Amino acid sequence: MISAGVPAGHALILFVSRILDDAMKIKIVFGLVTALLAGALAWEFHTLQQVQDENAALQQQLADLKSASAASSSETVPPEELKRLRDEHIELMRLRGEYTQWQKKSASAASEAEKLRQDVAAARRDADQKAEALATETTRRNAEVAQQQARAQASVCINNLVKINGAKQQWALEAKQPVGALPQDPDLFGPTRYIAQKPVCPDGGVYTLNAIGVAPTCSVAGHTLP
Ligand SMILES: [Zn+2]
Repeated sequence: MISAGVPAGHALILFVSRILDDAMKIKIVFGLVTALLAGALAWEFHTLQQVQDENAALQQQLADLKSASAASSSETVPPEELKRLRDEHIELMRLRGEYTQWQKKSASAASEAEKLRQDVAAARRDADQKAEALATETTRRNAEVAQQQARAQASVCINNLVKINGAKQQWALEAKQPVGALPQDPDLFGPTRYIAQKPVCPDGGVYTLNAIGVAPTCSVAGHTLP
């Protein structure tokens, strides 16, 4: 293409140089050179403009980066804040240690409390057994006391029956009453009789004098003359 174009260009130039005079040639060449220089200058200016634009864009980027860096450096943690955070961390670790200790103590206290609870339960069982034994013993003693009291009362009552029987025999003798005669209370009891006041059974029994030859009796069981 170039090799084909070159001879054609030459032929054109030869043709043009033939038809134009020298002054015209100079004018054309000057005009061409001027145009070329203007074009080069324009290109140069355009390039310069581009470079300036790029430079401005880069400076803007740099400014942006600087401001971003300043912003990020302002976001970094100040030393006193770091110290505070570190102190807080140490405090947290200390508290965690204390908590672990407390948990251990709590577990040990719980086992002590459980042991204490068992001791208390055992003591309560022991106390219950003792109370039961004491109640049994008290019942036994009370029964014994009641028995002794009953024996004592029976003894007093039988002594009364002996006295009443003696009065009956004295009455039968003095009043010349035969066996089978039935004395009444006024015959035996009174200030002028054999017993000043009619005896009373300590257990609330009722006396029956009975006839001469039969022993007097008390209504309470066991209150009997031998
Ligand atoms: Zn009696």
